Amino acid sequence: MRLRSMLAGLVAAVALEASCAGAALAQSLKADEVLSSTSVQPISAPNPVAGADGRVHLAYELLVVNASRLFMTLDKVEAVDASGSSLWSLEGDALAAMIQTYSGGAQQLPPGGSAVVFMDVNFAADAALPKEVLARVTVSRKIAGADGKPAAFPAGEPVPETVTFTGAATGIGAGARVIEPPLRGKGWLAVNGCCDSLTSHRGGVMAVNGLLRVPERFAIDWIQMDTGDRVFDGDVSKLASYPYYGAEVHSVADGVVVNVYDEADEQTPGTIKGITTENIGGNMLAIDIGGGAYAFYAHMQRGSLKVKLGDKVKAGEVIGLLGNTGNTTGPHLHFHLMDGPSPLDANGLPFVLTRFSSPGVAEVTEDTFEKGSPVRIDASRLAGDHRDQLPLNNQVVDFGD
Ligand SMILES: [Zn+2]
Repeated sequence: MRLRSMLAGLVAAVALEASCAGAALAQSLKADEVLSSTSVQPISAPNPVAGADGRVHLAYELLVVNASRLFMTLDKVEAVDASGSSLWSLEGDALAAMIQTYSGGAQQLPPGGSAVVFMDVNFAADAALPKEVLARVTVSRKIAGADGKPAAFPAGEPVPETVTFTGAATGIGAGARVIEPPLRGKGWLAVNGCCDSLTSHRGGVMAVNGLLRVPERFAIDWIQMDTGDRVFDGDVSKLASYPYYGAEVHSVADGVVVNVYDEADEQTPGTIKGITTENIGGNMLAIDIGGGAYAFYAHMQRGSLKVKLGDKVKAGEVIGLLGNTGNTTGPHLHFHLMDGPSPLDANGLPFVLTRFSSPGVAEVTEDTFEKGSPVRIDASRLAGDHRDQLPLNNQVVDFGD
């Protein structure tokens, strides 16, 4: 049996150490050294950010690799502090909803399989943050049966079927940047925003030059509702049906333009054509705003960019117009902060907006974007005036003029 041969070395080592009984370190693995069969490591250190829910969020990702010939199921993932106190945890359906597996399904990783677990460890606004956060992970083993499918883990093995181990320690990075809003006016939806659900932005984990990157973890797709709470009115495929198409985009901070693309034609809403790795962001700007942070504005109108490479910009300056270019099915401004000038070869950084107000959270459905149905707003969530906070997923945001 494969399992037997894999563990044979371990059994021999245990026997060897047993003959040295009485020595201070007379065991190969101590109780807190667990043969886990899986490796877990953070993709990058989390940067804390104050969310519009009044809580401080550590939104980061754990890469999980099943470095064995066994089937491994992730049963529970917790964030703990250095003393082992639990800070946050995920299991069952809540864990399944925050895992992206690259093979296999749900929480079970086949031999050699890997996954990313999306963490949203959050604290009260006045809580002292720990110096480091670790992951306490519970996994269960199954062997690969003769047909290659998972089969019961045999009794009597030197390792148990289910183990819990602690690792993946990470320090906590710098806090969120304070920026000005990128748009003006009322009724903007923060689509695909942070932090507690696996959106297309948070799930956008990609390997570039052999490194895993999560550039869009705090990105927001800004879409504006009209006075009837619709995101378009009329023919879904006509740009003219979207009144906010052409809205002025403002620089969120002083900075220098370090990356420009302005060669992508407008897409027809509802369809995506001609995407390459070069034009995927459509017409875009990356602006170095200092302190290792870069602001990224994507999908803008062709020919609307008001600045060129090397230009200095001021906070609030109009830098282009909201468009529908690149990898987009409808007009919106994709905005994020990142730690380098390349929109994809970078990790996302959190930001807070100096000021905004909110009537609540939009209950976004397919009909919102396909039929232009009026959006219902849940006024019991995130409503009110906000200062120095990150708008959260599907929050309706009024920026002011
Ligand atoms: Zn986006």
